[in-house]
Amino acid sequence: MNKRCAYCGGPLGLISHRKRRLRFCRLSHKKAWEKREEELWQLKKQQFFDYLARGSPAR
Ligand SMILES: [Zn+2]
Repeated sequence: MNKRCAYCGGPLGLISHRKRRLRFCRLSHKKAWEKREEELWQLKKQQFFDYLARGSPAR
C-alpha cells in the first residue's frame, strides 16, 4: 500500500486528498499535480498535431 504523496513523495497525514488512485498530502499538491498533468497532456496534444501536420503532405 502506497501511503505517500503522489506529488512530493512525503508521508501522508491524517487527512489526504485523493484523485483516482493517487493521494496527496495537501490540497495544494493535488492542484499542482493536476496542473502538471494538464500541461503534459497539452504538450502531448501539441506534439500529436505537429506530427499530423508534418505527416500529411499538403496537396
Ligand atoms: Zn505532497
